[in-house]
Amino acid sequence: MTNASGFLEYERIDTKKRSPEERIKDWNEIRLRQDPEVVKNQGARCMNCGIPFCHGGVLLNGTTSGCPVHNLIPEWNELVYQGQWKEAYLRLIRTNPFPEFTARVCPAPCEGSCTEGYIMESVTINNLEYEIIERAFAEGWVTIKKALETGKKVAVVGSGPAGMSAAHYLNSVGHDVTVIERDDRAGGLMMYGIPNMKLEKKIITRRLDIMQRSGIKFLLSTEVGKDISAQELVDNYDAVVLCAGASKARGLDVAGKELKGVHYAMDFLKSNTKSLLDSNLVDGSYISAKGKRVIIIGGGDTGTDCVATSIRHGCESVHQFEILPQPPAKRIEESNPWPEWPNKFKVAYGQEEAISLYGKDPRNYLISAKKIVGNEQGEVKEVHTVEVTWNKSAAGSMVSQEVSGSEKVWNADIVLLAMGFMGPEDAIPDELKLERDSKSNLKAEYGVFETNVEKVFTAGDMRRGQSLIVWAIQEGKLAAREVDKYLMGDSVIK
Ligand SMILES: Cc1cc2nc3c(=O)[nH]c(=O)nc-3n(C[C@H](O)[C@H](O)[C@H](O)COP(=O)(O)OP(=O)(O)OC[C@H]3O[C@@H](n4cnc5c(N)ncnc54)[C@H](O)[C@@H]3O)c2cc1C
Ligand code: SF4
Repeated sequence: MTNASGFLEYERIDTKKRSPEERIKDWNEIRLRQDPEVVKNQGARCMNCGIPFCHGGVLLNGTTSGCPVHNLIPEWNELVYQGQWKEAYLRLIRTNPFPEFTARVCPAPCEGSCTEGYIMESVTINNLEYEIIERAFAEGWVTIKKALETGKKVAVVGSGPAGMSAAHYLNSVGHDVTVIERDDRAGGLMMYGIPNMKLEKKIITRRLDIMQRSGIKFLLSTEVGKDISAQELVDNYDAVVLCAGASKARGLDVAGKELKGVHYAMDFLKSNTKSLLDSNLVDGSYISAKGKRVIIIGGGDTGTDCVATSIRHGCESVHQFEILPQPPAKRIEESNPWPEWPNKFKVAYGQEEAISLYGKDPRNYLISAKKIVGNEQGEVKEVHTVEVTWNKSAAGSMVSQEVSGSEKVWNADIVLLAMGFMGPEDAIPDELKLERDSKSNLKAEYGVFETNVEKVFTAGDMRRGQSLIVWAIQEGKLAAREVDKYLMGDSVIK
């Protein structure tokens, strides 16, 4: 450790972003590169604290604490401070095959468990990861790798981060890997869920190009269970890894949900990105919020992506409803102690943009939609809501209660449902008679990843339910290791 007092000398300088006023005029990424001198000094803020909780990647109280791919964070922090960028890159890819994705979209549970964050502000770990990998691409350090062929064939279903990670590691030890994807573009929710301004799609195609040149085959626009049966894959490959996500959306069970103008968030986001990539939105094949009053039901990250997308369309207004209370400004030490994930109020990029445009955070807390009302043409006209409170039941669980007299009517032209997901789709599990867990995800133990059907493995959201990209990457890697052991008796995948 060359600067033992860096954490006292330098204050945290956050990620550099374009201003909300500027960025809402286009669909380009909002993030900017930082001055190298600033990045170097941010590396020096790492205390090299002895027990790096930031490596952890464990579940504490049901939430993620530390980095799920176990990035060797203090090591690359120090290397950045010393200006040894290539070494820092080599250290980073020992644990993370796709830092360019996590650097952009990971909510950074590492920072929540950073020791410096216990008393001061945590190290800008996520931004250091971003600077290391972008420098590596710019310098040409990211190259293709080919291993001696084993002659074993593996099919990976789904090209999201879990499928990409599984394919990357299986290919790296010489297996012949084919990724089968029903969409016309690979990348899963990174391609068609997360909007371009958060993760530019050229970042995904840059990586896919490297993977293809490394020998991985991608079979696009091919749905397993429809265009090709799951059994055919089991019969024709030595192993199958199912990484098909958990895309069954949670619906809203209220009157009026069938009205014109009520959409699932994913239909809204996916059609927008596809049209943007196909034609720069000229083909009009997307759900437009232009000039409309938008109501988003769901206060989470998907809702935020809908806010930012609606604003770029030029919506007239946007409101977001959340049934839960607003999180506290700071973590509550008694119930949510460090190094747990800090449950605290954050203003994400979409809300920042809404505030700059309308002068107000679009989120409304402790509010529940009661019904949606339409006009004579069957189009959405209003959303009726009521406020709620949360109280402990006799059994000890929290239950919501409506506040009488708090009913409100909101004018709306478009309603977007962003209330989460209910698990994987049924076609593949039904065909192969795969066991499910209590949440309807595929049953396969973490660390083992094998289903009840011989040679069929599973990873990512399909196994753990909707989660994070960094968890999908880690599961893809660990599942690849188990597949490799199954095929070869042992594995060098670490
Ligand atoms: C709108 C939105 C925003 C998000 N933002 C973030 C974020 O900022 N940060 C973060 O960490 N996480 C985020 N997430 C969660 C994250 O995207 C997922 O946890 C992650 O993508 C899961 O990866 P996966 O590979 O398991 O599945 P997916 O990414 O869902 O990929 C599954 C793939 O399988 C394909 N597929 C499905 N069925 C079949 C079939 N029968 N045949 C062939 N292919 C099939 C699908 O088309 C898809 O491409 C977000 C999720 C959503 C919905
Ligand atoms: S992948 Fe996520 S948790 Fe891990 S170091 Fe990067 S930002 Fe932190």
